[in-house]
Amino acid sequence: MIRTKRIMSLALTCTMCLGLGIQADASELNETREKASQLQNQKKAAEDEKASLAAQLESIAADMEEIQKNIEAKEEELTAKEEELVQAKVEENNQYEDMKKRIKYMYENGNVQFIEILLESQTIADFLNKAEYISTISEYDRDMLDEFQAVVEDVEQQEAEIQKEYDEMGDMQDELISKQEEVSTLVSEKEAQISELDSQLGDTNAKLAELEEAAAAAQRKQSESSSGYVPNGGGGSVITGNGTFTHPCPGYTYISSYFGYREQPIPGASTNHKGMDFAAGTGTPIYAAASGTVVFAAYSGNAGNMITINHGNGLTTTYMHCNQIFVSSGQSVGKGQNIATVGSTGNSSGPHLHFQVEQGGVPVNPQNYF
Ligand SMILES: [Zn+2]
Repeated sequence: MIRTKRIMSLALTCTMCLGLGIQADASELNETREKASQLQNQKKAAEDEKASLAAQLESIAADMEEIQKNIEAKEEELTAKEEELVQAKVEENNQYEDMKKRIKYMYENGNVQFIEILLESQTIADFLNKAEYISTISEYDRDMLDEFQAVVEDVEQQEAEIQKEYDEMGDMQDELISKQEEVSTLVSEKEAQISELDSQLGDTNAKLAELEEAAAAAQRKQSESSSGYVPNGGGGSVITGNGTFTHPCPGYTYISSYFGYREQPIPGASTNHKGMDFAAGTGTPIYAAASGTVVFAAYSGNAGNMITINHGNGLTTTYMHCNQIFVSSGQSVGKGQNIATVGSTGNSSGPHLHFQVEQGGVPVNPQNYF
């Protein structure tokens, strides 16, 4: 009798130890989950910033292309103006030479020394200053020379203006190039940050998977010894996250199968998994992912106890292998309403919720909606 008592108290102590162990694991699990979610958010933010920088780079590239076109047009204008200037200078020079010839002829018999000084003038201006003293210089020649000089000056001015615009465009181009370099550096920094976050995220997710597996093992051990589920007809509403869908089974312990290709888990199961499997103890509440109308709520062969909700716009959600169903076909349900509990009915290897999302009758990845 005494011996039995001792054994029982020992067993009780062990159960308490186990409970504490599970609690510690759960808090570490939550912390790791939170860290993974924070890293995911940081990565998302960094990716958004990178996208915004990339858009800036694109806009700079467009500006560069535009300014390059303008520079080329301005270069053509400059070339044309230079040709015009050369032509004006040729005409000015022709007039000057003709004028000198006529003056030379007129003074052939006059003061040869003075004429020679005059004709040795280095510039037209110099010549005109000296020619001021020659009263017989033809009025016509002077007027013509003035006119040609005015044209040259005008063209020179125009060319200077074009040159100024051209230089300004060059400055703008230089600014764009340095801006481009600056933004490119920022993009590289962002990429390094994203890759660092990726590596941290990888480590954290690996740790998370380990902890989830440990927690699931502990949960299985506990549920084996627990008394079983007491039906309650549906609890209160629970909404988690801020996605289109609330999580249909926030009490799950781990994801036992993702959407898409997988190894065949049990005979008769598909290798192309049409939903997501959330492993959870029997009796864990299942919530409507969004508001809608129940279009099916009954036992259905491999799917076991199954509920399908129509959310409108071609979107439906289906909950399979339920233990208890709290809704019936035709009933309206709210987002997060407790509609069933997790079970292992139909073709199932253990208690879990198979959560399937269909858009226009085609199964889609439920993760897109959380
Ligand atoms: Zn499944």
